[in-house]
Amino acid sequence: MAKRGMLIVLSGPSGVGKGTVRKALFETGATDFSYSISMTTRKPREGEVNGVDYYFVSKEEFEENIRTGQMLEYAKYVDNYYGTPLKYVNETLDQGKDVFLEIEVNGAMQVRANCPDAVFVFLTPPDLMELKHRLIGRGTDAMDVINKRIKKAVGEIQMMRNYDYAVVNDEVNKAVDRIQMIIRSERLRVTRVMPDYEQMIGDE
Ligand code: 5GP
Repeated sequence: MAKRGMLIVLSGPSGVGKGTVRKALFETGATDFSYSISMTTRKPREGEVNGVDYYFVSKEEFEENIRTGQMLEYAKYVDNYYGTPLKYVNETLDQGKDVFLEIEVNGAMQVRANCPDAVFVFLTPPDLMELKHRLIGRGTDAMDVINKRIKKAVGEIQMMRNYDYAVVNDEVNKAVDRIQMIIRSERLRVTRVMPDYEQMIGDE
């Protein structure tokens, strides 16, 4: 039987550019993992294709999928459901292939609870770093703007704690490189490599 694949979860705060980074990552052509196409009740945007960008379904169909236990995770985001169909993820991992999810933070925490050996990558906005400089007095923002940013940043830093890696999205290509580096390293983790050797020992 093939060794089970690795599940990689890319998440992060709203507006950080998860979709852009994910698309750029797959466009490099250097990826050998499989993208799990999400299901959503939102209407397709111009140029989006059913079965490529998302599986576009009705609210009733989505809720039926939830009821019958067919979602690995799901969340409501801006009045629409978004979720990961369980079957594709399980079947692909069982074939020994790695699976990549790009999902919002509530869904990522559900995956964390159900799949503890998945790899969780948090995409951080670059201004989370810049904020530090503003705080030490180099910025020119009004105090209320700074306070709002601090509040948002605190929330984002709290979320980051639940992840294995933080990748700053300062430039899309750099973020893509960092994610590829994480994946390469994770594949070398002893707990992932060891089953191959155990099989070898077993065959002796
Ligand atoms: P958009 O409508 O812009 O395509 O996506 C809105 C948000 O939903 C993004 O943050 C995206 O990462 C997230 N999202 C896309 N697919 C899924 C999914 O399967 N599950 C969850 N929880 N979030 C998703």
